Amino acid sequence: MPTLRFHAVKESLSNKPIVVEEKERRSVLFGQNVFNENTMRQYLTKDAFKGVMNAVKYGKKIDRSIADQVSSSMKDWALSKGVTHYTHWFQPLTGTTAEKHDAFFETVGDGIAIEKFGGDQLVQQEPDASSFPHGGIRNTFEARGYTAWDPTSPAFIYGTTLCIPTIFVAYTGEALDYKTPLLRALQAVDAAATEVCKYFDKNVKKVTSSLGWEQEYFLIDKALATSRPDITLTGRTLLGHSSAKGQQLDDHYFGSIPTRAFNFMRELETECMLLGIPVKTRHNEVAPNQFEVAPIFEEANLAVDHNSLLMDVMGRVASKHNLKVLFHEKPFAGINGSGKHNNWSLSTDTGVNLLAPGKTPMSNLQFLTFFINTIKAVHEHEELLRASIASASNDHRLGANEAPPAIISVFIGQQLTKVLEELEGVTKGKLSPEEKTELKLNVVGKIPDVLLDNTDRNRTSPFAFTGNKFEFRAVGSLANCGNPMTILNTIVAKQLQDFKIEVDKLIDKKDLKKDEAIFNVLREYIKSTKAILFEGNGYGKEWETEAKKRGLSNNKTTPEALKAKISEKTIKLFDDMNVMSPIETKARYEIEMEAYIMHIQIEGRVLGDIARNHIVPTAVKYQNVLIENVKGLKEIFDKKFVAVSKEQINLIEEISSHIEGINSNVTKMINERKKANTIDDIEKKAMAYCNDVKPLFDDIRYHCDKLELLVDDEIWPLTKYRELLFTR
Ligand code: ADP
Ligand code: MG
Repeated sequence: MPTLRFHAVKESLSNKPIVVEEKERRSVLFGQNVFNENTMRQYLTKDAFKGVMNAVKYGKKIDRSIADQVSSSMKDWALSKGVTHYTHWFQPLTGTTAEKHDAFFETVGDGIAIEKFGGDQLVQQEPDASSFPHGGIRNTFEARGYTAWDPTSPAFIYGTTLCIPTIFVAYTGEALDYKTPLLRALQAVDAAATEVCKYFDKNVKKVTSSLGWEQEYFLIDKALATSRPDITLTGRTLLGHSSAKGQQLDDHYFGSIPTRAFNFMRELETECMLLGIPVKTRHNEVAPNQFEVAPIFEEANLAVDHNSLLMDVMGRVASKHNLKVLFHEKPFAGINGSGKHNNWSLSTDTGVNLLAPGKTPMSNLQFLTFFINTIKAVHEHEELLRASIASASNDHRLGANEAPPAIISVFIGQQLTKVLEELEGVTKGKLSPEEKTELKLNVVGKIPDVLLDNTDRNRTSPFAFTGNKFEFRAVGSLANCGNPMTILNTIVAKQLQDFKIEVDKLIDKKDLKKDEAIFNVLREYIKSTKAILFEGNGYGKEWETEAKKRGLSNNKTTPEALKAKISEKTIKLFDDMNVMSPIETKARYEIEMEAYIMHIQIEGRVLGDIARNHIVPTAVKYQNVLIENVKGLKEIFDKKFVAVSKEQINLIEEISSHIEGINSNVTKMINERKKANTIDDIEKKAMAYCNDVKPLFDDIRYHCDKLELLVDDEIWPLTKYRELLFTR
């Protein structure tokens, strides 16, 4: 009987591209399905509009009567667009998005029905949430959880459903999602940064954190992808010999986009326009069938929502085009994996990007203040920042010579390194008038010119300054950006708070002028944070040695990395900054460790099944063919048969040794899993999965991949790398 692979390949060959035409200009489509400022102006009363805008801009509470007006208008707008249902849309700690649809439809007795959506339904819902990850929070406290409207992220229509972005919390108030701590972190960084901005401009009332993500992904023919149990169940290939041609010719990166992928992109982009996701850039990535999509940056909370929504929409649009999107960080061995660069900055309500050099010495001092404080924050909390991107799937990518290492460092480029060196020499205490002039004219004043021709780009750095923003490159393609964004904004908020205290102290106690005090504090920061700055090759072995000397952490696996999330320092940091209570911090650690264990466990099971139920029987089948062949040769050649069947006999032996290799290692792995499962302590259990179970995957795979090269292609059951990667 032909294999599933055979059918899948046949089906993939019959797939024709679905041509997507664009009839409307994108600027016209943009935001059509979003209850945004424009739509609200049309649908809301003046009072209701003001209420929502005050909530969006200044975090003011929305009272019940306003909520009633908003919900009723939202409903009218949605009905006018053929919508039938509404849902609270949230991001639980499963890493995907969640929704439960309710119809607007309601009966009001006497066989009469109406469409209804009241303020109550808009503001709060109680999804039956008992099966979302909670890390013990809901067991200890209350069984119920609820979702609550986040007016800072506008409602949108997807399909025939009105989606209302919400937070998801336990009844006792503990966060059970990504959004809640993110909103708190954004508030913290706003408060701290606004205070610091006041040294430079008293008019600043609000500082907003911005995020521009770059999403990498693979697009694989759907029939081929679903023919592989490992892709279906784990999102990656657990085995498969590399294709004779991979990415070595560098012929995919920025090459012309294959037709099927191109049509998928067009439809995806149209959907994004309607949903108000400002996607702008698309291109091929380094590996075959790997691509990237990136938007214009937005306020961080909205950008995180948009990325989560995009990932969901991508899956659906791909399916229509007979494609499957893989977001896994390392779907294929031997070729590049996918990441999600997080471009991050801070800007004021007066329109100033705080990480962009300005036109005057004073605005440049402001730039340097935020620039150096960010470096200091990363230096103080490098281990936590590493933990913010830890996951079973991202472990494959970090440090694998294609993505930043597991060591966090900051790249700032030659020119800014020079500026910092000069600032380091600033006199302690009061500055002479000459020194001030020199600083103004030749150091701080020169920055914009300097940056214009600063084209330094270090692709190997996990955290790089790129002229007007930092780019956090170690984030995984599968990750919810909420996690790293919460941590980055929290550590910067904490650092800015500390900075303000230090500067004020110098002004009060040492009678320094404001700019003198700032220069003094920055000078000390420059001196104390040198260990985190690195301009060299982040992929090199030498860097590991050097980083160790500098005292930087190098946590290569998730269980090791996550420890930083429950250190005393972290618990206190989150608590002090009102981002997460100690209970929330510990719960999150448990959830992430659990998720790690479950991922490795599932991969182990899938790999064991494939190896024993697909690969070994196929190998035996082929071995029997060889045995029959040898028997036949013996019949014909009699005593001389050894000479003519030498190679076949070698093959028969080789196949046996690989079958042995598979079976003994699968048995070993199952035993290690059993042992690990008896461990109660979550840290020890995760370590056991990491150090005792996972390494056996490589041994099992080795033998399977060798067999792939030996066995008759016609009976090989699993769709091969060349088919997965080169079918367009
Ligand atoms: P690349 O890094 O590929 O050279 P760009 O520098 O143009 O590309 O920008 C990459 C991403 O950075 C884009 O998504 C862009 O919107 C985002 N970006 C640009 N400015 C900012 C900013 N101030 N804050 C956050 N993201 C930004
Ligand atoms: Mg980039």
